[in-house]
Amino acid sequence: MEQDIDVAANGVDAYWKKHWNEFFTGSYSSPTIYGAYDGNSAVEPQCGGDPPLANNAFYCRDGSDFIAWDTHLMENGYAAGDVYVYFIIAHEWGHAVQQRLDVRLRDVSLELQADCIAGAELNGAAQDGTILFEEGDADELGQAIKSTADDFPWNKETDHGDVNQRISYFNKGWQGGITACLPQYVS
Ligand SMILES: [Zn+2]
Repeated sequence: MEQDIDVAANGVDAYWKKHWNEFFTGSYSSPTIYGAYDGNSAVEPQCGGDPPLANNAFYCRDGSDFIAWDTHLMENGYAAGDVYVYFIIAHEWGHAVQQRLDVRLRDVSLELQADCIAGAELNGAAQDGTILFEEGDADELGQAIKSTADDFPWNKETDHGDVNQRISYFNKGWQGGITACLPQYVS
């Protein structure tokens, strides 16, 4: 599992290092990977002064700019399909990308936009040959998204969106790339 997590993180990171300037100004910097914590007992890593939650993965946007996950969340998801960890890493990386964007390029539904960016990154990495997907991974991916979806539609900032919304945003990024994930605005 650790190896898959490394491949996922290295793949999306390499994707942004290579392609950031095709879409955005400025330069890309990698977020820090804090990595695994034990959600049953961990008090670190703290984000904004709060300890990490059990059964969660998160990007910390309080300025410390790191990604961390409860090892139990990853183990449970991985047992159902190895693609699970790719989705989680890419989604959290999506939040790190959002943090690097001009605020006008952030979608009001940050969680759904992170799903869209996850699709763009994973397919981009697959195109670059840094991540290899196999037959059946699309179905596993659908299951992974389903298991992390809310059972109600996106309505406010803290919502993740229901399964149809999450899959639809993920596919939007997978098919259309990062530009399909950005809000349309008139400058
Ligand atoms: Zn999220």
